[in-house]
Amino acid sequence: KKIVIVGGVAGGATAAARLRRLNEEDEIVLLEKGEYISFANCGLPYYIGEVITNREALLVQTVEGMSKKFNLDIRNLSEVVEINRERKTVSIKKVETGEIYEESYDTLILSPGARPIVPPLNGLSDAENVFTLRNVPDTDKIKAWVDEKKPKEAVIIGGGFIGLEMAENLHHRGVNVSVIELGNQVMAPIDYEMAAIVHWELDNEGVELYLNDGVKAFKDGGRTIVLQSGKELTSDLTILSIGVRPENELAEKAGLTLGERGGIVVNQTLQTDDPNIYAIGDAIEVRDYVQGTPAMIPLAWPANRQGRLAADHINGRNAVYKGSLGTSVAKVFGLTVAATGNNEKLLKRSGVDYEAVHIHPNSNAAYYPGGSQLSMKLLFQPDTGEIFGAQAVGYKGVEKRIDVIATAIKGKLNVWDLADLELAYAPPYSSAKDPVNMAGYVGG
Ligand code: FAD
Repeated sequence: KKIVIVGGVAGGATAAARLRRLNEEDEIVLLEKGEYISFANCGLPYYIGEVITNREALLVQTVEGMSKKFNLDIRNLSEVVEINRERKTVSIKKVETGEIYEESYDTLILSPGARPIVPPLNGLSDAENVFTLRNVPDTDKIKAWVDEKKPKEAVIIGGGFIGLEMAENLHHRGVNVSVIELGNQVMAPIDYEMAAIVHWELDNEGVELYLNDGVKAFKDGGRTIVLQSGKELTSDLTILSIGVRPENELAEKAGLTLGERGGIVVNQTLQTDDPNIYAIGDAIEVRDYVQGTPAMIPLAWPANRQGRLAADHINGRNAVYKGSLGTSVAKVFGLTVAATGNNEKLLKRSGVDYEAVHIHPNSNAAYYPGGSQLSMKLLFQPDTGEIFGAQAVGYKGVEKRIDVIATAIKGKLNVWDLADLELAYAPPYSSAKDPVNMAGYVGG
Protein backbone atom coordinates (compact mmCIF):
# COMPACT_ATOMS: atom_id res chain seq x y z
CA LYS A 1 0.00 0.00 0.00
CA LYS A 2 0.97 3.63 -0.38
CA ILE A 3 0.89 5.96 2.60
CA VAL A 4 1.29 9.71 2.22
CA ILE A 5 2.09 11.88 5.24
CA VAL A 6 1.54 15.65 5.37
CA GLY A 7 3.97 17.36 7.76
CA GLY A 8 7.49 16.10 8.45
CA VAL A 9 8.23 17.10 12.02
CA ALA A 10 7.05 15.64 15.35
CA GLY A 11 3.99 13.55 14.46
CA GLY A 12 4.72 13.05 10.76
CA ALA A 13 8.33 11.91 11.11
CA THR A 14 7.44 9.59 13.99
CA ALA A 15 4.65 8.00 11.95
CA ALA A 16 6.95 7.56 8.94
CA ALA A 17 9.67 5.80 10.95
CA ARG A 18 7.17 3.52 12.69
CA LEU A 19 5.41 2.66 9.41
CA ARG A 20 8.70 1.54 7.93
CA ARG A 21 9.63 -0.49 11.01
CA LEU A 22 6.32 -2.33 10.77
CA ASN A 23 6.36 -2.90 7.03
CA GLU A 24 9.26 -3.10 4.60
CA GLU A 25 7.17 -3.13 1.42
CA ASP A 26 4.89 -0.10 1.77
CA GLU A 27 5.55 3.01 -0.24
CA ILE A 28 5.84 5.88 2.27
CA VAL A 29 5.88 9.49 1.08
CA LEU A 30 6.59 12.27 3.59
CA LEU A 31 5.69 15.78 2.44
CA GLU A 32 6.95 18.88 4.26
CA LYS A 33 6.39 22.43 3.06
CA GLY A 34 9.40 23.80 4.94
CA GLU A 35 13.06 23.12 4.23
CA TYR A 36 13.67 21.05 7.33
CA ILE A 37 12.10 17.85 8.64
CA SER A 38 12.19 16.38 12.11
CA PHE A 39 13.79 19.33 13.88
CA ALA A 40 13.76 19.92 17.61
CA ASN A 41 11.01 22.57 18.01
CA CYS A 42 11.36 22.40 21.75
CA GLY A 43 15.06 23.29 21.60
CA LEU A 44 14.63 26.42 19.46
CA PRO A 45 14.39 29.01 22.31
CA TYR A 46 17.59 27.62 23.84
CA TYR A 47 19.49 28.03 20.58
CA ILE A 48 18.45 31.69 20.44
CA GLY A 49 19.60 31.98 24.06
CA GLU A 50 22.93 30.32 23.15
CA VAL A 51 22.37 27.65 25.78
CA ILE A 52 22.44 25.24 22.82
CA THR A 53 25.27 26.46 20.63
CA ASN A 54 25.35 23.86 17.86
CA ARG A 55 22.70 24.62 15.21
CA GLU A 56 23.13 21.18 13.66
CA ALA A 57 22.06 19.61 16.95
CA LEU A 58 18.55 21.01 16.36
CA LEU A 59 18.23 19.07 13.12
CA VAL A 60 17.41 15.65 14.51
CA GLN A 61 17.12 14.09 11.05
CA THR A 62 18.00 15.43 7.62
CA VAL A 63 16.03 14.73 4.44
CA GLU A 64 18.90 12.68 3.04
CA GLY A 65 19.76 10.85 6.25
CA MET A 66 16.20 9.90 7.11
CA SER A 67 15.31 8.92 3.52
CA LYS A 68 18.23 6.49 3.47
CA LYS A 69 17.89 5.18 7.00
CA PHE A 70 14.19 4.33 6.68
CA ASN A 71 13.86 3.95 2.90
CA LEU A 72 11.35 6.79 2.68
CA ASP A 73 10.38 9.11 -0.14
CA ILE A 74 10.81 12.45 1.65
CA ARG A 75 10.03 15.64 -0.23
CA ASN A 76 10.71 18.92 1.54
CA LEU A 77 9.63 22.32 0.17
CA SER A 78 6.49 20.45 -0.90
CA GLU A 79 3.22 21.91 0.31
CA VAL A 80 0.03 19.90 0.09
CA VAL A 81 -2.58 22.37 -1.14
CA GLU A 82 -5.56 20.07 -1.61
CA ILE A 83 -6.88 16.64 -0.72
CA ASN A 84 -8.92 15.12 -3.53
CA ARG A 85 -10.82 12.49 -1.58
CA GLU A 86 -12.78 11.03 -4.49
CA ARG A 87 -9.58 10.41 -6.51
CA LYS A 88 -7.56 9.59 -3.38
CA THR A 89 -4.81 12.02 -4.33
CA VAL A 90 -3.20 15.08 -2.85
CA SER A 91 -2.17 18.15 -4.87
CA ILE A 92 1.37 19.18 -4.02
CA LYS A 93 2.91 22.57 -4.70
CA LYS A 94 6.67 22.72 -5.13
CA VAL A 95 7.40 25.73 -2.93
CA GLU A 96 10.39 26.90 -5.00
CA THR A 97 8.72 26.85 -8.43
CA GLY A 98 5.00 27.01 -7.68
CA GLU A 99 4.46 23.93 -9.87
CA ILE A 100 1.55 21.74 -8.76
CA TYR A 101 1.26 17.98 -9.28
CA GLU A 102 -0.87 15.16 -7.88
CA GLU A 103 0.22 12.15 -5.85
CA SER A 104 -2.05 9.22 -5.09
CA TYR A 105 -2.50 7.58 -1.70
CA ASP A 106 -4.19 4.56 -0.19
CA THR A 107 -3.89 6.06 3.27
CA LEU A 108 -3.21 9.65 4.19
CA ILE A 109 -1.86 10.92 7.53
CA LEU A 110 -2.26 14.61 8.35
CA SER A 111 0.26 16.03 10.83
CA PRO A 112 0.38 19.69 9.79
CA GLY A 113 0.70 21.07 13.34
CA ALA A 114 -0.47 24.44 14.60
CA ARG A 115 0.73 27.91 13.79
CA PRO A 116 1.26 30.95 16.00
CA ILE A 117 -1.78 33.19 16.28
CA VAL A 118 -1.14 36.61 14.74
CA PRO A 119 -3.97 39.03 15.48
CA PRO A 120 -4.64 41.86 13.02
CA LEU A 121 -3.15 44.59 15.22
CA ASN A 122 -2.69 48.16 14.04
CA GLY A 123 0.84 48.84 12.88
CA LEU A 124 1.90 45.19 12.89
CA SER A 125 2.54 45.03 9.15
CA ASP A 126 5.10 47.86 9.46
CA ALA A 127 6.83 46.31 12.46
CA GLU A 128 10.07 44.64 11.36
CA ASN A 129 11.06 43.72 14.89
CA VAL A 130 8.07 41.50 15.71
CA PHE A 131 8.59 37.75 15.40
CA THR A 132 6.75 34.51 16.01
CA LEU A 133 8.60 31.27 16.77
CA ARG A 134 7.65 27.94 15.28
CA ASN A 135 10.45 26.57 13.14
CA VAL A 136 14.11 26.78 12.17
CA PRO A 137 13.78 29.76 9.77
CA ASP A 138 11.93 31.72 12.51
CA THR A 139 14.74 30.83 14.90
CA ASP A 140 17.44 31.93 12.45
CA LYS A 141 15.67 35.26 11.97
CA ILE A 142 15.32 35.96 15.69
CA LYS A 143 18.87 34.87 16.46
CA ALA A 144 20.28 37.02 13.65
CA TRP A 145 18.30 40.00 15.00
CA VAL A 146 19.76 39.48 18.47
CA ASP A 147 23.28 38.93 17.12
CA GLU A 148 23.27 41.89 14.72
CA LYS A 149 20.98 44.51 16.25
CA LYS A 150 21.98 43.82 19.84
CA PRO A 151 18.53 44.75 21.22
CA LYS A 152 18.43 46.36 24.66
CA GLU A 153 14.70 45.97 25.29
CA ALA A 154 12.61 42.96 24.34
CA VAL A 155 8.87 42.58 24.81
CA ILE A 156 7.23 39.18 24.95
CA ILE A 157 3.52 39.20 24.20
CA GLY A 158 1.92 36.21 25.91
CA GLY A 159 3.10 34.46 29.07
CA GLY A 160 2.76 30.83 28.01
CA PHE A 161 5.50 28.20 27.64
CA ILE A 162 7.12 29.66 24.54
CA GLY A 163 6.82 33.23 25.80
CA LEU A 164 8.48 32.50 29.14
CA GLU A 165 11.17 30.30 27.58
CA MET A 166 11.97 33.18 25.24
CA ALA A 167 11.96 35.62 28.17
CA GLU A 168 14.55 33.52 29.94
CA ASN A 169 16.69 33.01 26.87
CA LEU A 170 16.69 36.66 25.82
CA HIS A 171 17.52 37.64 29.39
CA HIS A 172 20.38 35.15 29.13
CA ARG A 173 21.59 37.11 26.09
CA GLY A 174 21.70 40.28 28.21
CA VAL A 175 18.44 41.82 26.97
CA ASN A 176 15.99 43.58 29.33
CA VAL A 177 12.73 41.69 29.03
CA SER A 178 9.09 42.63 29.61
CA VAL A 179 6.22 40.17 29.40
CA ILE A 180 2.68 41.26 28.59
CA GLU A 181 -0.14 38.88 29.50
CA LEU A 182 -3.83 39.46 28.92
CA GLY A 183 -4.87 37.06 31.70
CA ASN A 184 -4.30 37.58 35.40
CA GLN A 185 -1.50 34.97 35.42
CA VAL A 186 1.21 33.41 33.27
CA MET A 187 1.34 29.66 32.46
CA ALA A 188 -2.29 28.80 31.84
CA PRO A 189 -2.01 25.07 32.74
CA ILE A 190 -1.49 25.92 36.41
CA ASP A 191 -3.80 27.82 38.76
CA TYR A 192 -3.40 31.41 39.90
CA GLU A 193 -1.83 30.77 43.31
CA MET A 194 0.77 28.45 41.75
CA ALA A 195 1.50 30.96 38.97
CA ALA A 196 2.05 33.62 41.66
CA ILE A 197 5.33 31.85 42.47
CA VAL A 198 6.34 32.20 38.82
CA HIS A 199 5.40 35.90 38.90
CA TRP A 200 7.69 36.29 41.89
CA GLU A 201 10.54 34.51 40.09
CA LEU A 202 10.16 36.73 37.02
CA ASP A 203 10.20 39.82 39.20
CA ASN A 204 13.26 38.54 41.02
CA GLU A 205 15.08 38.11 37.71
CA GLY A 206 14.24 41.65 36.67
CA VAL A 207 11.58 40.72 34.13
CA GLU A 208 8.86 43.36 33.98
CA LEU A 209 5.48 41.63 34.01
CA TYR A 210 2.30 43.34 32.79
CA LEU A 211 -0.74 41.26 33.75
CA ASN A 212 -4.36 41.91 32.73
CA ASP A 213 -3.10 43.92 29.81
CA GLY A 214 -2.88 43.33 26.08
CA VAL A 215 -1.40 44.95 23.04
CA LYS A 216 -3.56 47.50 21.29
CA ALA A 217 -1.22 48.66 18.52
CA PHE A 218 2.34 49.01 17.29
CA LYS A 219 3.80 52.43 16.49
CA ASP A 220 7.08 53.77 15.04
CA GLY A 221 7.66 50.64 12.95
CA GLY A 222 7.21 48.42 15.98
CA ARG A 223 9.57 50.39 18.27
CA THR A 224 6.63 51.44 20.44
CA ILE A 225 3.99 49.07 21.74
CA VAL A 226 0.74 50.61 22.90
CA LEU A 227 -1.03 48.55 25.54
CA GLN A 228 -4.77 48.38 26.11
CA SER A 229 -4.22 50.18 29.42
CA GLY A 230 -2.71 53.09 27.51
CA LYS A 231 0.87 52.37 28.68
CA GLU A 232 3.55 52.52 26.01
CA LEU A 233 6.61 50.27 25.95
CA THR A 234 9.76 50.62 23.89
CA SER A 235 10.85 47.45 22.14
CA ASP A 236 13.87 46.56 20.05
CA LEU A 237 12.62 43.00 19.64
CA THR A 238 9.12 41.66 20.17
CA ILE A 239 8.04 38.03 20.33
CA LEU A 240 4.38 37.38 19.65
CA SER A 241 3.54 34.20 21.54
CA ILE A 242 -0.15 34.34 22.37
CA GLY A 243 -0.94 30.78 21.41
CA VAL A 244 -1.36 28.56 18.38
CA ARG A 245 -4.20 27.58 16.12
CA PRO A 246 -4.51 24.25 14.30
CA GLU A 247 -3.52 24.10 10.64
CA ASN A 248 -6.93 22.86 9.59
CA GLU A 249 -7.43 24.43 6.15
CA LEU A 250 -6.67 21.27 4.15
CA ALA A 251 -9.00 19.18 6.28
CA GLU A 252 -11.71 21.79 6.19
CA LYS A 253 -11.53 22.14 2.40
CA ALA A 254 -11.74 18.36 2.11
CA GLY A 255 -14.97 18.40 4.12
CA LEU A 256 -13.56 16.69 7.22
CA THR A 257 -15.25 17.54 10.51
CA LEU A 258 -13.61 20.16 12.72
CA GLY A 259 -14.27 20.73 16.42
CA GLU A 260 -15.41 23.92 18.09
CA ARG A 261 -11.86 25.24 18.44
CA GLY A 262 -10.87 24.22 14.93
CA GLY A 263 -9.13 20.93 15.72
CA ILE A 264 -9.61 18.09 13.22
CA VAL A 265 -12.02 15.59 14.78
CA VAL A 266 -10.72 12.01 14.95
CA ASN A 267 -11.89 8.76 16.54
CA GLN A 268 -9.92 6.72 19.08
CA THR A 269 -7.88 5.16 16.28
CA LEU A 270 -7.02 8.65 14.99
CA GLN A 271 -9.11 8.42 11.82
CA THR A 272 -11.04 11.44 10.60
CA ASP A 273 -14.53 10.89 9.25
CA ASP A 274 -12.82 9.51 6.14
CA PRO A 275 -11.36 6.18 7.35
CA ASN A 276 -8.52 6.50 4.80
CA ILE A 277 -7.40 9.77 6.36
CA TYR A 278 -5.74 9.83 9.78
CA ALA A 279 -4.89 13.04 11.62
CA ILE A 280 -2.45 13.49 14.52
CA GLY A 281 -0.59 16.10 16.54
CA ASP A 282 -1.31 19.75 17.25
CA ALA A 283 -3.89 19.92 14.45
CA ILE A 284 -6.39 17.55 16.08
CA GLU A 285 -8.96 17.80 18.80
CA VAL A 286 -8.25 15.26 21.53
CA ARG A 287 -10.23 13.94 24.48
CA ASP A 288 -9.31 15.34 27.85
CA TYR A 289 -8.12 12.08 29.43
CA VAL A 290 -9.73 12.86 32.79
CA GLN A 291 -13.09 14.38 31.82
CA GLY A 292 -13.52 12.85 28.37
CA THR A 293 -14.42 16.24 26.95
CA PRO A 294 -12.95 17.75 23.75
CA ALA A 295 -9.63 19.57 24.24
CA MET A 296 -6.75 21.10 22.29
CA ILE A 297 -3.38 20.03 23.73
CA PRO A 298 -0.51 21.05 21.46
CA LEU A 299 2.41 19.17 23.02
CA ALA A 300 5.14 16.90 21.74
CA TRP A 301 4.25 13.74 23.68
CA PRO A 302 0.75 13.45 22.22
CA ALA A 303 2.08 14.12 18.69
CA ASN A 304 4.70 11.40 19.01
CA ARG A 305 2.35 8.88 20.61
CA GLN A 306 -0.37 9.51 18.04
CA GLY A 307 2.16 9.17 15.19
CA ARG A 308 3.14 5.77 16.45
CA LEU A 309 -0.44 4.63 17.07
CA ALA A 310 -1.66 5.76 13.64
CA ALA A 311 1.14 3.74 12.04
CA ASP A 312 0.21 0.74 14.21
CA HIS A 313 -3.46 0.97 13.27
CA ILE A 314 -2.66 1.26 9.57
CA ASN A 315 -0.72 -2.00 9.94
CA GLY A 316 -3.63 -3.79 11.56
CA ARG A 317 -2.37 -3.52 15.11
CA ASN A 318 -4.55 -2.80 18.07
CA ALA A 319 -4.00 0.91 18.69
CA VAL A 320 -6.24 3.16 20.73
CA TYR A 321 -5.43 6.74 21.72
CA LYS A 322 -7.10 7.23 25.06
CA GLY A 323 -6.82 11.00 25.27
CA SER A 324 -4.33 13.56 26.53
CA LEU A 325 -3.51 14.47 30.12
CA GLY A 326 -1.54 17.51 29.03
CA THR A 327 1.40 16.59 31.24
CA SER A 328 3.85 19.45 30.82
CA VAL A 329 6.97 20.98 32.27
CA ALA A 330 8.83 24.21 31.69
CA LYS A 331 11.91 25.89 33.05
CA VAL A 332 11.37 29.50 34.05
CA PHE A 333 14.77 30.77 35.14
CA GLY A 334 15.61 28.73 38.26
CA LEU A 335 12.08 27.43 38.66
CA THR A 336 10.53 24.31 37.25
CA VAL A 337 6.81 24.48 36.58
CA ALA A 338 5.00 21.21 35.90
CA ALA A 339 1.42 20.03 35.68
CA THR A 340 -0.69 17.05 34.69
CA GLY A 341 -4.41 16.52 34.20
CA ASN A 342 -7.07 19.08 35.08
CA ASN A 343 -6.46 22.34 36.91
CA GLU A 344 -8.91 23.95 39.30
CA LYS A 345 -10.00 26.56 36.75
CA LEU A 346 -11.21 23.79 34.44
CA LEU A 347 -12.89 21.81 37.24
CA LYS A 348 -14.74 24.92 38.39
CA ARG A 349 -15.90 25.68 34.85
CA SER A 350 -17.12 22.10 34.37
CA GLY A 351 -19.01 22.12 37.66
CA VAL A 352 -17.28 18.94 38.81
CA ASP A 353 -17.20 18.17 42.56
CA TYR A 354 -13.55 18.35 43.59
CA GLU A 355 -11.23 18.97 46.48
CA ALA A 356 -7.85 20.71 46.30
CA VAL A 357 -4.93 20.28 48.68
CA HIS A 358 -1.76 22.34 48.78
CA ILE A 359 1.46 21.12 50.32
CA HIS A 360 4.91 22.68 50.59
CA PRO A 361 7.28 19.80 51.28
CA ASN A 362 11.03 19.75 50.84
CA SER A 363 12.36 18.30 47.60
CA ASN A 364 14.63 16.10 49.68
CA ALA A 365 15.68 15.62 53.31
CA ALA A 366 15.89 19.08 54.88
CA TYR A 367 19.20 18.24 56.59
CA TYR A 368 20.91 17.39 53.29
CA PRO A 369 22.39 20.41 51.44
CA GLY A 370 20.89 21.56 48.16
CA GLY A 371 17.28 20.76 48.89
CA SER A 372 14.53 23.30 48.61
CA GLN A 373 10.85 23.66 49.26
CA LEU A 374 8.43 22.90 46.47
CA SER A 375 4.78 23.81 46.18
CA MET A 376 2.37 21.10 45.10
CA LYS A 377 -1.35 21.12 44.46
CA LEU A 378 -3.44 18.00 44.05
CA LEU A 379 -7.01 17.94 42.76
CA PHE A 380 -9.27 14.94 43.28
CA GLN A 381 -12.82 13.72 43.72
CA PRO A 382 -13.53 13.71 47.47
CA ASP A 383 -15.76 10.59 47.52
CA THR A 384 -14.06 8.27 45.04
CA GLY A 385 -10.56 9.68 45.46
CA GLU A 386 -10.17 9.86 41.66
CA ILE A 387 -7.18 12.05 40.87
CA PHE A 388 -8.07 14.89 38.49
CA GLY A 389 -4.71 16.60 38.27
CA ALA A 390 -1.65 18.02 39.97
CA GLN A 391 0.68 20.98 39.70
CA ALA A 392 4.08 21.67 41.19
CA VAL A 393 6.42 24.64 41.20
CA GLY A 394 9.86 24.77 42.75
CA TYR A 395 13.59 24.54 42.25
CA LYS A 396 14.27 20.83 42.53
CA GLY A 397 12.48 17.52 42.08
CA VAL A 398 9.35 19.12 40.62
CA GLU A 399 8.86 17.18 37.40
CA LYS A 400 9.48 13.77 38.95
CA ARG A 401 6.55 14.27 41.34
CA ILE A 402 4.28 15.33 38.49
CA ASP A 403 5.41 12.38 36.37
CA VAL A 404 4.58 10.00 39.22
CA ILE A 405 1.11 11.50 39.53
CA ALA A 406 0.62 11.38 35.74
CA THR A 407 1.44 7.68 35.94
CA ALA A 408 -0.93 7.26 38.88
CA ILE A 409 -3.77 8.83 36.90
CA LYS A 410 -3.19 6.51 33.94
CA GLY A 411 -2.93 3.57 36.32
CA LYS A 412 -6.29 4.61 37.82
CA LEU A 413 -4.82 4.98 41.30
CA ASN A 414 -6.79 7.18 43.69
CA VAL A 415 -5.69 9.75 46.25
CA TRP A 416 -5.35 7.11 49.01
CA ASP A 417 -3.11 5.00 46.78
CA LEU A 418 -0.65 7.90 46.58
CA ALA A 419 0.18 7.46 50.25
CA ASP A 420 0.94 3.82 49.54
CA LEU A 421 3.41 4.36 46.68
CA GLU A 422 6.79 3.03 47.67
CA LEU A 423 9.13 5.56 46.09
CA ALA A 424 12.91 5.74 45.99
CA TYR A 425 14.48 7.50 48.94
CA ALA A 426 17.91 8.67 50.06
CA PRO A 427 18.57 12.13 51.59
CA PRO A 428 19.93 13.78 48.39
CA TYR A 429 16.76 12.87 46.46
CA SER A 430 13.70 12.74 48.65
CA SER A 431 12.34 12.10 52.12
CA ALA A 432 11.18 8.81 53.57
CA LYS A 433 7.75 10.34 53.02
CA ASP A 434 8.00 11.60 49.45
CA PRO A 435 6.02 14.75 48.49
CA VAL A 436 3.71 12.48 46.46
CA ASN A 437 3.06 10.38 49.59
CA MET A 438 2.46 13.59 51.54
CA ALA A 439 -0.14 14.73 48.99
CA GLY A 440 -1.86 11.36 49.51
CA TYR A 441 -1.79 11.70 53.32
CA VAL A 442 -3.10 15.26 53.28
CA GLY A 443 -5.73 14.58 50.64
CA GLY A 444 -6.82 11.14 51.83
P1 FAD B 1 4.81 20.12 13.89
O1 FAD B 1 5.89 19.46 14.63
O2 FAD B 1 4.66 21.59 13.98
O3 FAD B 1 4.96 19.70 12.37
C1 FAD B 1 4.05 20.11 11.41
C2 FAD B 1 4.77 20.31 10.08
O4 FAD B 1 3.81 20.25 9.04
C3 FAD B 1 5.43 21.68 9.97
O5 FAD B 1 6.81 21.55 9.75
C4 FAD B 1 4.72 22.33 8.79
O6 FAD B 1 5.59 23.09 7.97
C5 FAD B 1 4.19 21.15 8.02
N1 FAD B 1 3.01 21.45 7.22
C6 FAD B 1 1.90 22.12 7.61
N2 FAD B 1 1.01 22.18 6.62
C7 FAD B 1 1.56 21.55 5.56
C8 FAD B 1 1.13 21.28 4.24
N3 FAD B 1 -0.05 21.70 3.81
N4 FAD B 1 1.96 20.59 3.42
C9 FAD B 1 3.16 20.17 3.86
N5 FAD B 1 3.63 20.39 5.10
C10 FAD B 1 2.83 21.07 5.94
N6 FAD B 1 6.06 20.65 23.29
C11 FAD B 1 6.39 20.01 24.43
O7 FAD B 1 5.74 19.01 24.77
N7 FAD B 1 7.45 20.43 25.20
C12 FAD B 1 8.19 21.52 24.86
O8 FAD B 1 9.15 21.88 25.56
C13 FAD B 1 7.85 22.23 23.68
N8 FAD B 1 8.54 23.32 23.32
C14 FAD B 1 8.21 23.96 22.15
C15 FAD B 1 8.93 25.09 21.78
C16 FAD B 1 8.63 25.76 20.61
C17 FAD B 1 9.41 26.97 20.23
C18 FAD B 1 7.58 25.29 19.76
C19 FAD B 1 7.25 25.99 18.48
C20 FAD B 1 6.84 24.17 20.13
C21 FAD B 1 7.15 23.50 21.33
N9 FAD B 1 6.42 22.38 21.74
C22 FAD B 1 6.76 21.74 22.90
C23 FAD B 1 5.28 21.88 20.97
C24 FAD B 1 5.66 20.73 20.05
O9 FAD B 1 6.75 21.12 19.27
C25 FAD B 1 4.46 20.37 19.18
O10 FAD B 1 3.43 19.93 20.01
C26 FAD B 1 4.76 19.28 18.16
O11 FAD B 1 5.82 19.65 17.32
C27 FAD B 1 3.52 18.97 17.31
O12 FAD B 1 3.80 18.07 16.32
P2 FAD B 1 3.02 18.10 14.93
O13 FAD B 1 3.57 17.00 14.11
O14 FAD B 1 1.57 18.15 15.19
O15 FAD B 1 3.38 19.51 14.29
